Amino acid sequence: MQIDQERLAALFITLCEIDSPSKKEGRVAEYLKSIFQEMGTDVTEDGSADETGSDCGNLIVRFDGGLDKEPVFLNCHMDTVLPAEGVKVVRQGEVFASQGETVLGGDDKAGIAVLVEVMRTLTENNMPFGPVELVFTTCEEIGLLGVKAFDPGLLRSKIGFALDTTGVHKVITGAPAANRIVAEINGVAAHAGLNPEQGINAIQLAAQAIAGLELGRLDSESTANIGLVEGGTATNIIPERVVVKGEIRSHSEEKLVAYTEKTKDVFSKTITNWQDPTGKAKGCPTLDFQVVPDYPVMKLDSNADVIRRIEQAAAAINADLEFMVAGGGSDANIFNSYGLQCAILSTGMDKVHSTEETIRLSDMVCTAQLVLAILA
Ligand SMILES: [Zn+2]
Repeated sequence: MQIDQERLAALFITLCEIDSPSKKEGRVAEYLKSIFQEMGTDVTEDGSADETGSDCGNLIVRFDGGLDKEPVFLNCHMDTVLPAEGVKVVRQGEVFASQGETVLGGDDKAGIAVLVEVMRTLTENNMPFGPVELVFTTCEEIGLLGVKAFDPGLLRSKIGFALDTTGVHKVITGAPAANRIVAEINGVAAHAGLNPEQGINAIQLAAQAIAGLELGRLDSESTANIGLVEGGTATNIIPERVVVKGEIRSHSEEKLVAYTEKTKDVFSKTITNWQDPTGKAKGCPTLDFQVVPDYPVMKLDSNADVIRRIEQAAAAINADLEFMVAGGGSDANIFNSYGLQCAILSTGMDKVHSTEETIRLSDMVCTAQLVLAILA
């Protein structure tokens, strides 16, 4: 079965040039609805927009296919990271890039274009294929909001694939869990030159705490970072308040809990061990430490049904798969937490989340052939 490469290229460009930063996926959703309605397929839009704040919901598109195979779902997210307003695609030979001021948005529109082209190829050629449910989510890039608000009861499939990683013929079978941490330290404001004894410097306390943290790669499966420090009002005022934001990730839920506790301990001890050097401070420092669970761990067994399905597909087209674990969370983490098996497939995209993002048409075609083999 032949993939129509130029039709795939044209669709990819069109999708990239419909801007869809997170929460503004509505125009891409409308475009996809029109494509699938033209193919005679019903599209369901869920009610997640209320929860996510997006201008549309997640889309679910079902095809029966006619072949007696286990149903699969195929997922892509419709949103892109910033800068993403006014995307113009530049094509040189078979390489696509943006004009340089925005991302390309191949993350994740390469996956969307591949799925549409695969469904067109199957239906136009009247090829029998296994039941498939396409799930297009919103707000993946800002905390997996669309998939978190998705009702897994809408799906018949128990296994699926998210087309959402770099490289070619790569399969992601594991990803870490993550917690976000927010530590707010409150000291006491005072004039830095007139009466510094009365103040408690919140930024200094934050600095002491951060200096006591283990950051970077903590062990073979865990990392930690402090990424934002916000506080202070002027150079001549002892800062009253500082907010420190960071994250901890681990492929082990137990380690994630332990490292999160340890981080909290360091902040707590810094505050409780504070001593007033002159006895003239107008109060004591306080700490508000919040842990926001970001996403749970994803870990697929090497003999899971979803892995067998992709191995069979790869064998059918003589493709060599590369199995890997990821360093970050994505929609697949949440699908797995719903009790569904979801692996992540590469689409060919490269240098994502940057204005240097590119993708090759031949790599999208490779992805399409693998998806065809999963279904047919
Ligand atoms: Zn993505």
